[in-house]
Amino acid sequence: MSKGSVARRACRGLALWRRLGAEIRTTPAGGLSVPSCSRPGRSYRVSLAGEGRCGCADWRRRKEPCKHVYAALVWAAKRRVALRIAESERVAA
Ligand SMILES: [Zn+2]
Repeated sequence: MSKGSVARRACRGLALWRRLGAEIRTTPAGGLSVPSCSRPGRSYRVSLAGEGRCGCADWRRRKEPCKHVYAALVWAAKRRVALRIAESERVAA
């Protein structure tokens, strides 16, 4: 993966968090629900365990952190719950 690709996705993740961060929430099953930017009303399940996972096509294709993972990381860091979420996912996995 090129550095440009990482920076671009981190940047898109920050933009997603700015625009739709208020809709990001934890899910009862663990992990986070992150809204899609291209499809209103749709959201993806994001896990922050390890380097992060996401249910979107970009993550499934590349197996690398996508903009939803980056948006979730910003959200979690802001909420100061990133470690607690990662811990609970490790227990659940
Ligand atoms: Zn994604």
